[in-house]
Amino acid sequence: MPRMQIVTDEPCFQNDLGDVIRLFFGEGAADEDGRDILTHTHREENGLWTDTVRLELEGQSQLYTLSAPAVSGTPVEVRRYAKRLAKRTAYQALKQATGRELPWGSLTGIRPSRLFRQQMETGLTAEETERLFRDEFDVSPDRIALVREVLDTQQGMTDGNPDEMDLYVGIPFCTTRCSYCSFSSGVIGDGHLVEPYLTALLSEIEACAALAREHHLLIRTAYIGGGTPTSLSASQLNRLLRFMHESFPDLSEWTVEAGRPDTIDRAKLSVMRQFPVTRISINPQSMNDVTLAAIGRAHSAADCLRAFEEARAAGFEDINMDIITALPGEDLPMFRHTLEVIGDLQPDSLTVHTLAIKHASKLHEIRYEQRTDEMITQMADEGRALAHRLGMRAYYLYRQKYMASNLENVGYARPGKICRYNIDNMEETKGVLALGAGAISKRLMGHDQRILRAPNVSNIETYISRVNEMVQRKADMLKAKPEGEENHDTLG
Ligand code: SF4
Repeated sequence: MPRMQIVTDEPCFQNDLGDVIRLFFGEGAADEDGRDILTHTHREENGLWTDTVRLELEGQSQLYTLSAPAVSGTPVEVRRYAKRLAKRTAYQALKQATGRELPWGSLTGIRPSRLFRQQMETGLTAEETERLFRDEFDVSPDRIALVREVLDTQQGMTDGNPDEMDLYVGIPFCTTRCSYCSFSSGVIGDGHLVEPYLTALLSEIEACAALAREHHLLIRTAYIGGGTPTSLSASQLNRLLRFMHESFPDLSEWTVEAGRPDTIDRAKLSVMRQFPVTRISINPQSMNDVTLAAIGRAHSAADCLRAFEEARAAGFEDINMDIITALPGEDLPMFRHTLEVIGDLQPDSLTVHTLAIKHASKLHEIRYEQRTDEMITQMADEGRALAHRLGMRAYYLYRQKYMASNLENVGYARPGKICRYNIDNMEETKGVLALGAGAISKRLMGHDQRILRAPNVSNIETYISRVNEMVQRKADMLKAKPEGEENHDTLG
């Protein structure tokens, strides 16, 4: 992998240029001690901006220049447009040098649909925004079509109401650690931390229900995620759900990320059915046993089939499944096998992820044969085609750093099976009270919907011993005034 140092006469764009380099070569590719060099210059002359990028890459030298009319406006606007031109010039230079065309072009943000909607809120038409995506960010036509599909499906679901917030509850335990996992979840081991964690969590739930009443918040949507919430025993799950139900009685949408099929049994499904849990997620990731073993999941494809059938038999009418493209060792026929099995099961929603390898994951250390951009894109497109065949439409979309082939994660759902929490969370159109280790609460502030965050600590033992402080952070977040110098972007 090339290691590229950045030399620029606009030091404030150093990180942005680094982001573009990482799009092509991955984490660690932008390196101040690297042998390769990207030199960027920005000039203004006669009302024209001209950006030049010279690449010294693996002994070859290449030059790329782009010009655009100079933009006037506030310093923030000028900087935004100048940054776009710098990133686009770097993208074009690297595209020319590598022969790789990336689906999202020079766009490095994680919420393309949100950006599209924000542009339209400034007065651009959908067609003008499409042009912007195509001409200023080099986004491919099929990714623009995907964004449009998401926005169509979301219509009427993204209006913010400052009194409405969602609820997130995190269970940071898993039976084993997936090799691609970069979360702070702990392996449950002998389970000695589970009871003290639950006790702390229930106290946080109780205190936050009181805060919600004090601030007249409407909380209708809840998501229990992790980790793997069903790694709790049936009686622990019962305690948690009962306590949540009593504390937040007005929930109309309630998802439990059942996640690992090996943690799902009839007793836990029956517990969930006693409460108004409306949606569960059973996540195979792959239906190939050899892959499941390779990525550290302690279950087989047969476990997924059993868990799914038991969930249907228990009466669940809204079941999501997650799959991942570009898993180690998987080729197109293997991925197609997964799609075929999922197609037969007919879940109500399907999330097609693209593998992202982060520094904190085990997979980061392991060498394996990478599939081509074409093959991985084909996998994502075939996942999309299956979702459409099952009568689903894309309803949310996000990107992460270091995703294979720079693709995306897409949630598809049948009509009436959309998870509002996912839209609120990904589009950041509603605040969230987020409880449990590592959870980050958010509140939208004022007319410009600035986001104020209150993060909980990630370490499980620290969370248990400092849970009162986590509640106080949320109390401070809810008390903060929309405007005023006493506010900070992050509390705690
Ligand atoms: S199930 Fe999720 S949280 Fe648990 S180890 Fe796997 S990726 Fe990490």
